[in-house]
Amino acid sequence: MGYKTITKNLYCKNCQKNVKATAEEKDINHILHLILSVLTVGIWLIVWIFISLGINKQDNEFNCVECGNKVLTKGQKVKNIILLIFALAFIGILIFLALKMGVIGL
Ligand SMILES: [Zn+2]
Repeated sequence: MGYKTITKNLYCKNCQKNVKATAEEKDINHILHLILSVLTVGIWLIVWIFISLGINKQDNEFNCVECGNKVLTKGQKVKNIILLIFALAFIGILIFLALKMGVIGL
């Protein structure tokens, strides 16, 4: 899988100023997502679309070019909350389907 470097102007706590920060951006592993989508009868498509839309681009680890410190972007907190909601919904759907199909009984 390939990487590309992206640069942003972000505030570095260590340098106490706005600095250039770089991050490696991962290519989306579409084959993995395809496999997951098939395995989950299409439910994973939601996550795949979500990732493809580029929301994960906020999640790159940016490092200050001057001191090398990790610099956080604003999008990271929001993204974590959205991912948590997705994960919970996903687990809920799986349990619901398992109950429907009689895989697990109450
Ligand atoms: Zn710095």
